[in-house]
Parts: sequence; C-alpha cells; structure tokens
Amino acid sequence: MIGIIGGSGLYDIEGFTDQKEVAVSTPFGDPSDPLVVGNLAGRKVAFLARHGKGHRLTPTEINFRANIYAMKAVGVTRILSVSAVGSMKEHLVPGHMVVVDQFYDNTKHRVSTFFGEGAVGHVALAHPICAELAATFVKGARAAGATVHAGGTYICIEGPQFSTLAESRIYRAWGVDVIGMTNVTEAKLAREAGLCYATLAMVTDYDCWHPEHDAVTTEAVIAVLLQNVATSKAVIRATLAGMPEKPACRCAEAAKNAIISARDNIPAATREKLRTLVGGALD
Ligand SMILES: [Zn+2]
Repeated sequence: MIGIIGGSGLYDIEGFTDQKEVAVSTPFGDPSDPLVVGNLAGRKVAFLARHGKGHRLTPTEINFRANIYAMKAVGVTRILSVSAVGSMKEHLVPGHMVVVDQFYDNTKHRVSTFFGEGAVGHVALAHPICAELAATFVKGARAAGATVHAGGTYICIEGPQFSTLAESRIYRAWGVDVIGMTNVTEAKLAREAGLCYATLAMVTDYDCWHPEHDAVTTEAVIAVLLQNVATSKAVIRATLAGMPEKPACRCAEAAKNAIISARDNIPAATREKLRTLVGGALD
C-alpha cells in the first residue's frame, strides 16, 4: 500500500474510489485522523490529513509518531508526502514544486524518534529521502505539467509562527531552498520504521527575506495555495501510475543494524511497542 500524507483537501481527489475510514490506535497515541484507505490510479492507498480534518493541529501538536506508526500498521511501505512551503531562493517561484532531497532540522519541541525506553537505535540519515521514490515523484510532476525542481534543502522550523526577518536571512545564508514546519520529523520516523519517504514541497510564497514579501496580499497567497492543491492531485495520480511495483531501494532495512542495545535487556513493553515498526531487528 502507498501512504499519502497531506492536507485534508486531497481527499476529494478525482478517481479515489472505495474510500473507507480506518481508525488506528497506536502505542504512541492516536494519529491526526483516521486513515482513509481506497483505490487510486490502480494502487491501494492510505491518505492521512497531517493536521487533522479541518486543520485542527499545530505542527507541534501533530503526533508524528502515531501518524507514521499507523501507516506502517495498515501495510504502507512507501509514503508520498505533500506540503506547502515558503521559498528561500528567487528562482523557486510561488506555484513551483520542489522534490527535496535534504533537510535541516531546526525544530525545538517534538519527539522525532521511536527509540527510547531501553531500546537505543541510530539509523543513517545522510540521505533522508528515498532516491527512487523522489525520482518517481519528479517524473510524475513533469507528467502532470508542474514546474518541478529535483532536489533541494528543506529547513524545518517549529512554528507555528513564521520566521523573523533575522531568522529568514540567517537560513538563507545557510543555503537552504525551502522552509516548512513538518516534513523532517516525518522523514526521520519513516526511516526508523523502514518506510520509503519522499516529499513534494509546493511553493506558496517567498519567505519574509524577499523584498516583495510584505506587498503580497493574503488573497494572492491563497490563490497560489489552491492552485498548488489542484496541481498536487494531478502529480499524485501521475506518480502513483508511474511507481515501480516493488521498491528496489534499501529503506526497509534501515533499522536492521541500527539497534545497539543488548537485546536481552530491552524491556518487554518496549519490544512490544517497537515490534510493528522494526520487526526482526529486535531479535
Ligand atoms: Zn526507499
């Protein structure tokens, strides 16, 4: 099954048939919403509204662990993520899409690991995005007629406020391409859970470093946002249709050599919490 995490506006995607809500409770709490499972472009898919239906949750309030766990629990192996971002570069124009390949984690108040409570694991994150899935996303975006940039660095801030001007200028000096509040946490947890993860960052506006930032009206930003949602639906359909039947990457093995705790000492309760996520890596 293919997981899709995005805004609740994605649910009414054309051709999404046999929709069924699946409420999943996890050892890490409840996901943002029930998953909506169904068929789309010849695939079994599971949708999740990242902020809950009606956009109820701030980035900090999102239970990212429950969201990723729920995906894994229903049989998802690959996650396509879609999210709105601000642009940190002149050439990444509002309305463009960026299939990012790197992150800088500037979050401050969230748990971004499944490990702990007696089980210590260190997964590799040098390449936090599944390259195969990202390439499929880029191809899908091109097929859907979107202006897409392959690769880019996403800085993830805690939010919910946008950056100050000083912050925005510092991030630019760091060389990042887009700014958002959610994706790095999903990428880290997906890697620990052995899931392929790639994200379509849709540029909504320029962050406040841009000289024209203050002159842009809310109406103009919302117009871009709505257009991006429409484009992302076409991109998702094209991406699903173009996905290889089985991934050839090694994302699923990420946890295999990550756990360094002596197996005998891992408490039974922790073992139980992690079993769905890392399976045989605990044995
Ligand atoms: Zn992968």
